Amino acid sequence: MTKLLILGGTAEARALLGAVSVWPDLHAIMSFAGRTRHPNIDQGILRRGGFGGVDGLTSYLRDESIDVLIDATHPFAARMSMQAEEASNRAGIPRLKLLRPPWAKHPKDRWINVSNTEEAARRLPGLARRVFLTTGHRDLEYFSNLNDIWFLIRTIEPIGQRLPHQACCIQARGPFSEKNEIALLKEYGIDALVTKASGGRLTYAKVAAARALNLPVVMIQRPNPPPGPIVPTVDDALAWLRQDERAA
Ligand code: NAP
Repeated sequence: MTKLLILGGTAEARALLGAVSVWPDLHAIMSFAGRTRHPNIDQGILRRGGFGGVDGLTSYLRDESIDVLIDATHPFAARMSMQAEEASNRAGIPRLKLLRPPWAKHPKDRWINVSNTEEAARRLPGLARRVFLTTGHRDLEYFSNLNDIWFLIRTIEPIGQRLPHQACCIQARGPFSEKNEIALLKEYGIDALVTKASGGRLTYAKVAAARALNLPVVMIQRPNPPPGPIVPTVDDALAWLRQDERAA
């Protein structure tokens, strides 16, 4: 029996788990950071919470006799990915990064590429007065001193940290439709979108909606991926798993 650890938190991780769950000679465990409350997964194959850095993950891989690791975390979960690379090397097991491709830019897109959230905040004065902010619950403090800008902030979980001076917070989990995103942008009179270059289908509608309304999008670029093998799709990850008889 091959034991697979999937580092999750993405739709791709769920799809991968679903696909391998019917493999007779493979036992898969899905790991979540535990940021969201309802991961909606069979509890028997789920673990939650950090491992305790590289040392903790290395110990986990050894103690649980994990044979193979697939890092299917979000493109912006750079710390976890680097730790997974280091820990799998130490434990001497194969590891793959499943990294969804970034969104392709359409000729009518008005993207302003920035390298991080801090730079995104710096680009807003003069660009927009009502901003749709979809960068997650982290790093919101960079926007907190932009007193002349009103923010619509959408997160999966409620936000507990310091918010921008003028802000309205809504909670929602994708997938979102382009029609509804256009309606949302119009309802709140939004004149710019700030998003991470996450890629994927579930949250693309806001980008398409911004394009439809000719709005600028401040696009935060991805951190560098970890070294080692990387595949873009779940099917590629399944093929990698099958090769070299990593799994039946
Ligand atoms: P991160 O900065 O790379 O990781 C921070 C710490 O969270 C890690 O050092 C690790 O703690 C723990 N962690 C992260 N992913 C984990 C997992 N799958 N299982 C167990 N522990 C995990 O990650 P993040 O950006 O905070 O993202 C946290 C989770 O949310 C990830 O699973 C990611 O896939 C998901 N997510 C992130 C984003 C995003 O924009 N960053 C968006 C959607 C979903 P220890 O050091 O204690 O092991």
